[in-house]
Amino acid sequence: MKKDSEKKEYLFAPASVEQMAARRERRVWEQREMLERGGENRCVVCIGMNIAGPNKRSGLIDAAFLDAVLHLMMSAGIGKMLEARDGSGAELRFINENTGIEALIALDMSPEKLKRICVEIEEQHPAGRLFDMDVIAKNGEKLGRSEPRKCFICAKNASVCARSRAHTVEELQKAVQRMLSYWLARKIGLLAKNALYSEVHITPKPGLVDENNSGANTDMDAELFERSAESLQMYYERIAASTIQYCCGEKNDASAKEFFSSLRSLGIDAEKAMLDATGGVNTHRGAIYSLGLLASAAAHDIASGIFAADECGLRGKLPNGYDLADSLVRTAAELARSLGDNSTATSNGAKMREKYGVEGPVQQAQQGFPLAMLAKAAKGEYYNRHGRGGSELAWAYALIRVMAVMDDNNALKRGGEEGAAFVKNRASELASLAMRLDPAEFSAALLEFDAELIERNISCGGAADMLALALFLEEIEKHYARALALLASSESKDRSM
Ligand SMILES: [Zn+2]
Repeated sequence: MKKDSEKKEYLFAPASVEQMAARRERRVWEQREMLERGGENRCVVCIGMNIAGPNKRSGLIDAAFLDAVLHLMMSAGIGKMLEARDGSGAELRFINENTGIEALIALDMSPEKLKRICVEIEEQHPAGRLFDMDVIAKNGEKLGRSEPRKCFICAKNASVCARSRAHTVEELQKAVQRMLSYWLARKIGLLAKNALYSEVHITPKPGLVDENNSGANTDMDAELFERSAESLQMYYERIAASTIQYCCGEKNDASAKEFFSSLRSLGIDAEKAMLDATGGVNTHRGAIYSLGLLASAAAHDIASGIFAADECGLRGKLPNGYDLADSLVRTAAELARSLGDNSTATSNGAKMREKYGVEGPVQQAQQGFPLAMLAKAAKGEYYNRHGRGGSELAWAYALIRVMAVMDDNNALKRGGEEGAAFVKNRASELASLAMRLDPAEFSAALLEFDAELIERNISCGGAADMLALALFLEEIEKHYARALALLASSESKDRSM
């Protein structure tokens, strides 16, 4: 743990003028070398971040850089060329220093085409104004832009502003911080909303609202859940923004107090917005709390520089089984402990806890959402077993696994102890059958269970929340895994040379 933070301290330390000059010189040499190694069509693209002042690195800057790499990987088959290492000669060099985070990529491709792709990313990505994506042709010349870049403070010609030092470093740093916070918060808000969307559409979900039916509910359907998710997106975004502000600012007792009280009031506002959107139906009360914590954890870890931590890949190692999700739930647990138990004594969760002594969402969160992690792992197991044919049902299997062990407040409220025990027994029975049944048989068994729960009027909303959390974690992981693995592989290749 200490080792990680020391390395991060080094990477995030200010760069001296001498270090920057040395890096510039070295970069030219590296570019030349990469161009020489290739044939006639070889060109090099340098991806870096355009950051004023001596501090070239931060968690937000690194995350934006990863996004730039990902966008390039998704264009014109570039990712495939880099990952294949098939002798087509694509080459990647990753520079991870306090002088800046950079990637140099050599490809056989028309430099004009590559430049067009880069300009498009720079223009269209919300943080693209900070991306520097230079393309160098075989003859060593840097390709120009058809239009000069605009200054992100005054919108005039950026190179004129830079030459005349029209803006102070402090002004520029503030603008960069604003742009990156806004971008990351929006991104996390969208991921959270998407997780809620995906969860409701997973079908079949016994007893719950899905595409087939409303389960054991009479006052809600999939469309209502969508509207509810829509109304919550903004709150997840604001939770993320508030977390980023806290992480990047000065940390003391007062700022911590202010941060946690902002989380609480955003939760209250979100609940009001949800009830407004649904006409008073509680669609996502549990998810406001749990997914809110995970959104905050994601913002916290990214803004604090998780990608510069050794275990995460940017340092060149991406150990098998490295789990970004695992880091996020650990952070969420810490946040949940600091936030405390705010549920009112009149909430269903509190009533069930008093009556049956079962754990609720707060206890789940404080333990690092073990049931969401179970769902995520179970989904993977089913998918590995049944391949693409089972992908539809993999999340349904994950749900059953959670239902088999969870004390669901809603099941207790509607079915009492007997009903809750029925859910657990039937779910474990189905879960152990699932791997032996083919997907069509498993699907039929799920529909049967659905009918039984509708008959008994039981709907395990808490288990559905765990599914939404697992979906969120999987999305975040999927998003970054590809770029992290690629950068990690480039460094280990360098080391072996
Ligand atoms: Zn300007």
